[in-house]
Amino acid sequence: MDNYKCERCGSTTYGTAEHLGGEFIICEECGYIKMVKERDPELVKESLIPKCPSCGSTAITAGPLTYRWSTKRTMNRCANCGYSWEP
Ligand SMILES: [Zn+2]
Ligand SMILES: [Zn+2]
Repeated sequence: MDNYKCERCGSTTYGTAEHLGGEFIICEECGYIKMVKERDPELVKESLIPKCPSCGSTAITAGPLTYRWSTKRTMNRCANCGYSWEP
């Protein structure tokens, strides 16, 4: 991540944004955030297609579950065997 120049203010003093997963840098002058690493499309594809840990099927539906105590969690559910799990 050398020689990045802020697209907003032109500053070259950048800090990394570890809390954003280390794929972004933040301009120390104006706070502009720039993505420095695109996610590997293949990896994204893989991670978007979870397999059922029970039967191995990829017919998975995923969606957020909202509980009464307002905790939002995403659960995967196998359309083949009905097994559901946290991704
Ligand atoms: Zn800047
Ligand atoms: Zn299954």
